[in-house]
Amino acid sequence: MSVRRTTATLLAVLAFLPAVPAHAAAPEKPDQIVAAWSKDRVYVDERLRPAMPEVELTRIRAAAKAADFPVYVALVPQTPYLREVLYDLPTLLQARTGEPGLYVVEVVSDGYWHGVEELYRPGGLKGKTLTSVRAEDKQRLDLDTNRPAPDVIRTIQQAQTAYDGRPLPPVAAADLEPERPSRGESVTDQEDRATFIGMGIGGVLSFVLTLLLAFRRKRHRRPSATQAAGKRPNVYTEEIRRQADSMIKRATQAVKRIENKPQPTLEQLDRRDDANRRLAAARKLRADDPDDLLAVAGALVLARQAERGASGATVQPPCFFDPTHKPGTQQVRWDDVEVPACKVCAARMAKDQTPRGLHVKSVPYWTLDPKKSALVATGFGALSDDLPERIIARAEDRR
Ligand SMILES: [Zn+2]
Repeated sequence: MSVRRTTATLLAVLAFLPAVPAHAAAPEKPDQIVAAWSKDRVYVDERLRPAMPEVELTRIRAAAKAADFPVYVALVPQTPYLREVLYDLPTLLQARTGEPGLYVVEVVSDGYWHGVEELYRPGGLKGKTLTSVRAEDKQRLDLDTNRPAPDVIRTIQQAQTAYDGRPLPPVAAADLEPERPSRGESVTDQEDRATFIGMGIGGVLSFVLTLLLAFRRKRHRRPSATQAAGKRPNVYTEEIRRQADSMIKRATQAVKRIENKPQPTLEQLDRRDDANRRLAAARKLRADDPDDLLAVAGALVLARQAERGASGATVQPPCFFDPTHKPGTQQVRWDDVEVPACKVCAARMAKDQTPRGLHVKSVPYWTLDPKKSALVATGFGALSDDLPERIIARAEDRR
């Protein structure tokens, strides 16, 4: 009965995920933002104002004021319209103001903030690009994404470095992700996390052997028998498959938007290539076996990453415990490795409870043989970011 109830709850939650809009209205939004900027260069969408702490805005304004160029910020919620134009929004806005400066659109979606940005230099192009500074900034992933200020302030600092070459300051302690367990971070950890920082830009793909070895040992550590609650109804696989297909469509559209640009930037082309790499693997997984929960969950993860990357957002690793959860924005220590986890699973780990995890054939997927599945071996890409290559390279990916 608990399985049925869990599934029902899950489906109820899934029903609230945003659907793909056929047509997205509200093109007046950029005009609204630009009009508001004439009074205050930190625009806050009216829907966000009641809940927006003043201290966030004060900090953003202070950082903007300290910059050597004008800074325009818009804090907005994710909407169907925004999803369509997000990647172009800084350009659309700058075209309306006609002013040089840094344009940051910070979007909140599912409680997480992420931004798109563009730097229009007053003195023309010189020095480093903002993109390259961002790609090299190892602290980017440590930012607290529960609030808008950390990413906006970091983007302003990165733009300043791109502008005059000054070194990037360390991220303020208050802007780092909270609740991170104390970590004796090894070089291996750093390399592993670094694969998620420059994703699609440097094309860095590392395969972290020590993590994998530790990971394999876990196969023998099964969770308590009460957690192995029988086969999930097929309806669950169907729901994940539907989500994966919907996300593949959205990612394809996001790639097309880049390709339709008359003059895409190098960063946009890199993002397109990275998204295509993930999309090809997602499509292959979907074509392989429509009834395999592992395959459809893998397709969902890769398509979601492709959609985010092609839309200008940071590509995030999945939640290691269950790739159908929200992305793994927290790092949790599990035995001797650190794995990305969603907030819910991270909260369970903090209480010393192992998350239930994605179950296949009544067991958590991570207890399956990693030699037989790239999805299992990489934790759906949570442990290493070479999943697309491994999917494409393999004639088949079967349990
Ligand atoms: Zn999770």
